[in-house]
Amino acid sequence: MSVASQSTPLISRMLSCSVSIANQAGKIIREIMRHGELGIVEKEHAKDLQTEADRAAQRCIVTSLSKQFPKATIIGEEGEDECKDTSGHVFDPSTASSLHITCPSHLASVPEEEVVVWVDPLDGTAEYTQGLLDHVTVLIGIATGGKAVAGVIHQPYYNYQNPGSELGRTVWGVVGGEVGGMPMVSPPEGKLIVTTTRSHSSSTVNDAITSVSPTEVLRVGGAGHKVMLLLEGRAHVYIFASPGCKKWDTCAPQAILEAAGGTLTDIKGIPIPYHVSAPHRNSTGVLASAAGQSHETFLNKIPQHVKDNLKA
Ligand code: AMP
Ligand code: MG
Ligand code: MG
Repeated sequence: MSVASQSTPLISRMLSCSVSIANQAGKIIREIMRHGELGIVEKEHAKDLQTEADRAAQRCIVTSLSKQFPKATIIGEEGEDECKDTSGHVFDPSTASSLHITCPSHLASVPEEEVVVWVDPLDGTAEYTQGLLDHVTVLIGIATGGKAVAGVIHQPYYNYQNPGSELGRTVWGVVGGEVGGMPMVSPPEGKLIVTTTRSHSSSTVNDAITSVSPTEVLRVGGAGHKVMLLLEGRAHVYIFASPGCKKWDTCAPQAILEAAGGTLTDIKGIPIPYHVSAPHRNSTGVLASAAGQSHETFLNKIPQHVKDNLKA
């Protein structure tokens, strides 16, 4: 049997299952793009899109995870109505090889009913529809006690422009424990590379970026993708002084970044809460620093008017 036994701590089992399920969701996302029928609908506004890939990936993740962990609360980005049809979308993680993830002692006895899983089945939907496929990620974030404690970021299109190389990669981490799936790299010294949104900019977003005097700004899609840039040493800090990001965008990236030694808070330095009744929206923005960077120094440089503009 490849799924870890019941004596393995819940967080380890859940994370291992989430890795297999995220990989399966990635296959669904690629399959829908291959067929080309994206079924795009607008959600809150013209830049806030949902495709059949978002819906099908969410069906797969939510139904598969809830079958394995029926007492956990799972909150997915896409509305339940659009994702009702679950036929053919349950994936059995025991059919995939499982990871043996060591659980840090402070998480060893978390009960299933105290876990909240925040799911972004496809982060970077605008970019997916525009063919910027390497911006797309699948995010599964595990929270307990209101904190992000473990997570998975899967990039279904990693290497898609390098034929012959393995397509896709998946990184995972547990706060206070292991990180796996790719090597962690420090960003270059003597530079300050900021990453931020490419499709949700504003004058406040830009004022926050200018305040840290970057040597380069990478405007790319997706919260998951931007945190990947921090993990692989391609950017020093992710700054987003705007209320548009949601808990499912930040839970998994935050857990992995913190497991790797980095930090993710709101733009004022306040921890983002992930308990079951937390508001979905991260109203006070996002600031994420790579391992080895001074989060405090970035926070101190963000202008007061930017912080005042973002109200909880
Ligand atoms: P971005 O960095 O613009 O790709 O945004 C990261 C995540 O936050 C994506 O899931 C976006 O859909 C979401 N997001 C950011 N700003 C907004 C907004 N103004 N409206 C809706 N979603 C947003
Ligand atoms: Mg998203
Ligand atoms: Mg999404």
